[in-house]
Amino acid sequence: MRKMKQKRMTKQKAVVYEILCSTDTHPTADWIYEQARKRIPEISLGTVYRNLQVLLEDKKIIELNYGKGQSRFDGNPNPHYHFVCEKCGRIYDFAQDGPWVGEDVLTAAPGMVKSCRFECYGICRDCLD
Ligand code: ZN
Ligand code: MN
Repeated sequence: MRKMKQKRMTKQKAVVYEILCSTDTHPTADWIYEQARKRIPEISLGTVYRNLQVLLEDKKIIELNYGKGQSRFDGNPNPHYHFVCEKCGRIYDFAQDGPWVGEDVLTAAPGMVKSCRFECYGICRDCLD
């Protein structure tokens, strides 16, 4: 019985992770939940949140919180820059691998940098058209 439950948790976690990795839209937990229900009808929003927390602790995903609205999640845990559209709210990955903030900036920090986040804000190409 215990083993069954364990196995099911693992499956739910795998589904949450797969859904997140299948998109580059940086979705909310609600969106992930809607997708997960198509594959596991009995899954709950709480389970989705719990598994997102576990994946965050495992450093397999990252959480993007902009202080307003729901957190967004990203299946790519490697350092990369984001572009936030102030009109439609979409979050895009930068298309290229840099240039990145240089080491000189990091050494100017008044302490030891453990991680950093870089975002640009503006209007995306879709919204400009
Ligand atoms: Zn936009
Ligand atoms: Mn991203």
